[in-house]
Amino acid sequence: MKAPSMRGAPLSLFNSMGRQLGPFTPLSPGKVGLYSCGPTVYNYAHLGNLRAYVFTDTLRRVLRFKGYDVTHVMNITDVGHLTSDADEGEDKMEKAASAQKKSVWDIARHFTDAFLADMDALNILPPHQQPKATDHIDGMIAFNQRLTDNGHTYELADGLYFDTHTVPDYGKLAMLDVDGMQAGARVAVTEGKRHPTDFCLWRKSPTDSTRLMEWDSPWGVGAPGWHLECSQMSIEYLGAPFDIHTGGIDHRQVHHVNEIAQNMGYLGDGAPGAGTWMHNEFLVVGADKMSKSAGGFLRLLTLTEKGFHPLVYRYFCLQASYRKPLEFNWDAIAAAHNGLKRLYLRIEELLAQHGGAEISAKGDWQPRCDGPLKPRIEALDGAVSDDLNTPKVMANLNQLLADNSLSTDDALYLVALHDRVLGLNLLTTTAADLQPQRTSGPLSAEQVAVLIAERLTARKDKDFARSDAIRDELNAAGVVIKDGPEGTTWEWQVG
Ligand SMILES: [Zn+2]
Repeated sequence: MKAPSMRGAPLSLFNSMGRQLGPFTPLSPGKVGLYSCGPTVYNYAHLGNLRAYVFTDTLRRVLRFKGYDVTHVMNITDVGHLTSDADEGEDKMEKAASAQKKSVWDIARHFTDAFLADMDALNILPPHQQPKATDHIDGMIAFNQRLTDNGHTYELADGLYFDTHTVPDYGKLAMLDVDGMQAGARVAVTEGKRHPTDFCLWRKSPTDSTRLMEWDSPWGVGAPGWHLECSQMSIEYLGAPFDIHTGGIDHRQVHHVNEIAQNMGYLGDGAPGAGTWMHNEFLVVGADKMSKSAGGFLRLLTLTEKGFHPLVYRYFCLQASYRKPLEFNWDAIAAAHNGLKRLYLRIEELLAQHGGAEISAKGDWQPRCDGPLKPRIEALDGAVSDDLNTPKVMANLNQLLADNSLSTDDALYLVALHDRVLGLNLLTTTAADLQPQRTSGPLSAEQVAVLIAERLTARKDKDFARSDAIRDELNAAGVVIKDGPEGTTWEWQVG
């Protein structure tokens, strides 16, 4: 049999199942099925959420770089996710709808669109399939029916439950001490629940009221449990087993544990559904993870309103390993802005020297891996193959940009290759693009230009009081001016 069409060094990934770094081998040679838990569209995504999608996108780009044909599926949760990760409490969608006096469908549409706009701004490749939970209710009912036929469920007054003692090693992913768990430690115990870890597969609507979103089922009118959709949609779109399942590290404790239990019950072969489970760490602010429930949270828009380009956030994420908590603060974002700007400026120099000629072999790296560029290409391949070591990829990139022995064509070819993984649009975005475009504020760009010309005149006339006053006025309006040998330049202050 032909070996998998993997290229370069063996790809090593950290599998949360067993918590170990190991060689990745796809189920079918040359192909990878990748499933990522998507957003619950009851609010805007915050920067912590977006870190998970930058991570997944990096994984997908690395798999592509290694020569795999990737099929990427990401769901949109537009129903049935309650306010705790254990899927208890109020329905997030319905709560948002009543708070905003809109229909749940309008809420879902609005926040899905906002989410997709953020993905696009961060240069995240769109998933090949983006199924919505509400389009898969029939599939979820059939899934539950099979779980029931296989003896994994029981029905209570408020819904259909999964009996977590019917599958082997429940909680293995989370390393849960199931026997030591106390019922009701965190939430009220549901009457009749057999074990504290059992969870809802179908939530019946209350008899005295209706839900905004509800469907008929063999277990009464109601809505699916949150964990169900990811099991059903991953298997529907990727088949079972599939290669890699990703999500934020909070999913490692409950959501993915329950997906695995469902998959085992459904498939009946003791397999957890996916071979590799990967989780990114949190974005932290002080000592806390960023979360929606904490109230005021930071969005991508918060950054752009302060004058930062969305790709600055992507660059900021790539500076750290996805498996390490990343601390958010404005100084770090400003440093990322400056780092990315320096990168663009250096590449612009190279492009100017290159004079607009086509950059050779942008996509593929193997043909040139036998030539003089071999050590550089191997260093890049080595870094990405080491569990997506993006900090190392960036360090390699900075090194090669400082290497004057490389020809311009070779340097730009290597930049293109590094960008296949980084996704920073290194050859098309410019330092000028990073400068904030302000449409509101105390001064327009034209007014700034007029003031700068006036200041120049004042300086020529040695009217330093006037010149200083103009400088103060500009500074107060968030304009940074620099006097250099070639005249005065200015830019909007960021942060
Ligand atoms: Zn999920």
